Amino acid sequence: MQFFKPVICVSACLNGENVRYNGQTISDDFVRLLLKFCRPFNVCPEVSIGLGVPRDRILVYYDTNQFRLFQPTTKKDVTHLMQQFATSFLTNVYDIDGFILKAKSPSCGVSGTKIYRDSMGSVFHSKGKGLFAAEVFNRFGYLPIEDEGRLRDEDIREHFLIRIFTFAHFREMIASKPAIQDLLQFHQEHKYILMTYNQRKLSQLGRILANYKKGAFETTLNDYKTLLYTAFSKKPSQKQHINTLLHISGYFSDNLNTNEKKHFLHLIDQYRENKIRRTVIIELLRNWALRFNDTYLLSQKYLNPYPEELTVR
Ligand code: SF4
Repeated sequence: MQFFKPVICVSACLNGENVRYNGQTISDDFVRLLLKFCRPFNVCPEVSIGLGVPRDRILVYYDTNQFRLFQPTTKKDVTHLMQQFATSFLTNVYDIDGFILKAKSPSCGVSGTKIYRDSMGSVFHSKGKGLFAAEVFNRFGYLPIEDEGRLRDEDIREHFLIRIFTFAHFREMIASKPAIQDLLQFHQEHKYILMTYNQRKLSQLGRILANYKKGAFETTLNDYKTLLYTAFSKKPSQKQHINTLLHISGYFSDNLNTNEKKHFLHLIDQYRENKIRRTVIIELLRNWALRFNDTYLLSQKYLNPYPEELTVR
């Protein structure tokens, strides 16, 4: 199966550039592998605002309702410079499917950045976002935004992968100047992914397509696009996945013998008890789809949401 390459903005230090404060880079196995299947472009906000490499440490502190970015050794406040850079850089970012930013950084951190009560970093305040990352969330909150640390969690990783590959597919479809048939096909192929993420939005998206009027394709496409991104905002629960898996297995009920059906339900129980991963069941459903040559199910992205090499087994 072919996958469109997601366009991903990456912290430069995670993608081979020696731009960290100590002149080094970060090597993360999964990010390195993932980026082979993407179209990445790098950003280093600290180098971009002229802090240089190597550089003295900067930190975030909270002062009268504002997060400030400060370099204690030089007493330089670079808050404004960073905000200016973030605004101008992100204004020129479009047609993008997600971000992978460096964990805990005062500029790039997406959630675990240490925030202090004072500009010298002596008193801890809380954990939060780096200043550049905060602006990424402001502008692109509807897209997947993660750091390399959080992507080690299997569920977060899968949620991220499903979204970036779905959004890349949708973006490429739009770029190809689609007709209503292309949008209908996209919807059909993503039916079970959408059902897993958000049944209500699946129905709403279906209604948008059903109400399509000749000559008003742009409106239909825009309405569909807006709703599609919001449909993926929340990671689905195990229960939602089980519902989809059972639904798909229903396609084979006339062709399977009693032992095969029992085995399938046993696997569902094992998954429910966290004894096996969902990929085991998906593999079985894929095999049945091949065995019974079910082309509809074989086209379902739920059974093949992203390149196999990225699957956690
Ligand atoms: S974390 Fe961000 S600002 Fe720091 S070196 Fe990496 S890319 Fe540059």
